[in-house]
Amino acid sequence: MQKKRWIRRKLPICICTFFIILYVDFQLRSSSLPKLSVAHPLVPGPLQRSIQEAPSPARDAQIPGGNSSDSRAEDGGHSDSEDAHVTLPELKLEDIFIAVKTTGRFHETRLALLLETWISRTKAHTFIFTDTEDEDLHSEGYNMVVTACQSDHSQQALSCKMSAEYDGFMASEKRWFCHVDDDNYVNPEALLSLLSVFPQDGDIYVGKPSLDKPITAHELLEGNATREVRFWFATGGAGFCLSRRLAEKMAPWAGGSRFEQTSARIRLPDDCTVGFIVEKMLGVSMVHCPLFHSHLENLLLISHRSIQHQVTLSYGMFENKMISIEVKGSFSKDKDPSRFKTVHCKLYPFTSWCP
Ligand code: UDP
Ligand code: MN
Repeated sequence: MQKKRWIRRKLPICICTFFIILYVDFQLRSSSLPKLSVAHPLVPGPLQRSIQEAPSPARDAQIPGGNSSDSRAEDGGHSDSEDAHVTLPELKLEDIFIAVKTTGRFHETRLALLLETWISRTKAHTFIFTDTEDEDLHSEGYNMVVTACQSDHSQQALSCKMSAEYDGFMASEKRWFCHVDDDNYVNPEALLSLLSVFPQDGDIYVGKPSLDKPITAHELLEGNATREVRFWFATGGAGFCLSRRLAEKMAPWAGGSRFEQTSARIRLPDDCTVGFIVEKMLGVSMVHCPLFHSHLENLLLISHRSIQHQVTLSYGMFENKMISIEVKGSFSKDKDPSRFKTVHCKLYPFTSWCP
């Protein structure tokens, strides 16, 4: 029993570490030694890392579901191995641009809980993308981005916000872009630990799929023709992250109005569009990481003692019942139905409102 619980607790962390090791191993193998010695000037900030070329569409002959290998490295085009590996300073939490997607009617019901909990630890580099002006939030010094996007749950409205998140990150000097929904708890330390493991100048797209196989889309081509494409995507409701280098390469399909055009081209929502651009247009495979969680999965499977290692958590309603993680602590389920306050007090027991 004890052993089973131990395995359940450690398994997601082991799987995640395994994929990361696999990825790092592949990156190192694909960068041959002579090329590593190419002397490039050391650039101080990520913004100075210019895009050296427009990415060429990757071949379609990818290994479907090839989890952690960068297939671009093999496709004869420009690859990692042609760039010198630049040593960047150690990643800090403030280097991560955290974008939270919300909407006017959730400012009080959902966002307030996040502001009180994890955003209180990441305020300076967390950016709230919404559709409604909120004077109170503004005056409290939060980074509010009031988009002109519609406030509904349509594919177009959601892609519009994701597009604003992407553009917001690109205009910043941050090194990583992470997206979350307003029903996600982000564990800042776990997020930093995860992102620190990756090569900081690599092409990284990390998150968790909600499907057990790649999604199939029907990409619209010229003259009303379509072609079937399959790719993995990280579900937006669990959160995901992109390294700056990869985000820069996504620009031809994601910058400005192009994100919404790409979304319309595959007729799928924002998170699928990110997967399509990364995996199909750039040929970079997503890193699957079980430390991200959406309310589409069984949250009861997250063990009490592994909570501190999880990167994101979630909660939601299903058939009129609240589903949340199972954690005992400071607050009753009535007082803290999402369990976010309880988790926060476990992680930061010295928070003023924690008992
Ligand atoms: N959302 C939105 N407009 C809406 C409904 C939702 O912008 O009309 C946002 C919401 O703030 C959240 C995300 O879309 O960040 C997902 O919404 P929700 O959790 O309600 O639905 P899910 O897709 O998780 O079932
Ligand atoms: Mn949700």
